[in-house]
Amino acid sequence: MEIRALGVYGNQLLRKRTTTFMINHTLLIDAGAITASLTLKEQAEINNIILTHSHADHIKDIAFLADNVIGRKPVSITIYGSETVINDVREHYLNDKIWPDFTIIPSTQNPVFKYEVIEVEKEFSVCNLKIMPVRVNHPVFTTGLIVSDGKVTVAFSSDTSPTERFWEVVNSYRKIDALFIETSFPSELEKLAEVSGHLTPAMLSKELEKFRFLGKSRIFIYHIKPAFERKVKREIMKLGIPNLRILRQNEIIKL
Ligand SMILES: [Zn+2]
Ligand SMILES: [Zn+2]
Repeated sequence: MEIRALGVYGNQLLRKRTTTFMINHTLLIDAGAITASLTLKEQAEINNIILTHSHADHIKDIAFLADNVIGRKPVSITIYGSETVINDVREHYLNDKIWPDFTIIPSTQNPVFKYEVIEVEKEFSVCNLKIMPVRVNHPVFTTGLIVSDGKVTVAFSSDTSPTERFWEVVNSYRKIDALFIETSFPSELEKLAEVSGHLTPAMLSKELEKFRFLGKSRIFIYHIKPAFERKVKREIMKLGIPNLRILRQNEIIKL
């Protein structure tokens, strides 16, 4: 499995892009950094996007992607998300007010986007991968994802505060080769992290105590808020957690 980190930040700043992972060149997890990271040709090859939740830093680029690839693709791009995410995108984003409804453009028979509702803890298949969505703890309905190609299994936390069910499901797997987990704010901003549904390095360290594969699995940190980047990175490295490092933007992880 190949994972390309198109955007690894919890907000946008010069050269720092919001969350998007590209798996095996074909599947995107979230849409925070599609159009500023990929060539037009690469964008036209995308057929599937999973949205973990409706926050702008995770969905914004579906709007600009649609505009770039219209007329360049014989098939529609399928956007997967929970019922809440799909309804929110439909009602509040691609709603013919903020941006066009690309499920009817250029035609209802052959639109740019199709929506596909996914259910929590109901595994589905896409791009030869099995995907398990699991609810995490964030102010809007959010799913972490466990992605497996039959040999390699990888877990993505999405945006979350301390959570339980995600770890229960992750720990039920035979092995987890890599965990991609968020950390957003420095530890002194724990209150802010709690109300906004995120982790600090101190909270991360407690969360990882629940992870059965700690020490065996590789751990990659992402979603740091750029305004606090240096401080958060310093605090994370001080934790001394084995096999853990901070994910770099544009890096390609082969597992
Ligand atoms: Zn986010
Ligand atoms: Zn969020």
